Amino acid sequence: MKTIGLIGGMSWESTSLYYKIINEYIKEKAGGLHSGKCILYSVDFDEINKLQKEDKWERCGKILGNIAKKLETAGADFIIICTNTMHKVIDIIKTYISIPVIHIAEAVYSKIEHHNIKNIGLLGTKYTINGDFYKKILIEKGLNVIIPDDEDIEFINNTIFNELCCGIINQKSKEKFLLIVDKLKNKGAEGIILGCTEIIMLISQDDINIPVFDTTKIHAEKAAELSLI
Ligand code: GLU
Repeated sequence: MKTIGLIGGMSWESTSLYYKIINEYIKEKAGGLHSGKCILYSVDFDEINKLQKEDKWERCGKILGNIAKKLETAGADFIIICTNTMHKVIDIIKTYISIPVIHIAEAVYSKIEHHNIKNIGLLGTKYTINGDFYKKILIEKGLNVIIPDDEDIEFINNTIFNELCCGIINQKSKEKFLLIVDKLKNKGAEGIILGCTEIIMLISQDDINIPVFDTTKIHAEKAAELSLI
């Protein structure tokens, strides 16, 4: 079995889901007492979040690159960055290591491609939705990415950082998220990417009648799958 290196803590609420999903997948596939070989480096998210707000992405990349290097030295065979947003600095992180990094958007696309979907709705932080780094991967694969309007992006972003990353699940926020999903559907979305690893704490496939792509589960299961090859 290969060893998974996890860069986590962004937030720890969703990283704990990664740990559970990886182990559940391995238990299901390998049975008995098998469990995932994982090395987790969990950051203090407050430090990273301050840098995000100050637009110091290069600095974020260097911090996470050094962490990736520590994971490689500790024996990780490949790396996963347990957040969509921080894939913004994946190219910097890669320069620190010689092991592969499994991209969350690539993992998600490998699920979307099995559906007959051309127009995909994207929810996530304002960095993920407004930036190119994430959408470009989907667009290059031929998808049309549909995003919320500016006011809704701000609401989603605030909910992620002020509620979900702090473990707060608010019914009113859930209702608003589902209204935003409805608007994306009205704009033509045939599926929805939960493009932030905490959104699954608030809404899921049970609430939505078009395919929902949960990046946390998809990314964690991809890592678990690769660890068994
Ligand atoms: N976990 C979130 C994501 O998947 C947001 C936290 C962060 O900024 O990394 O994008």
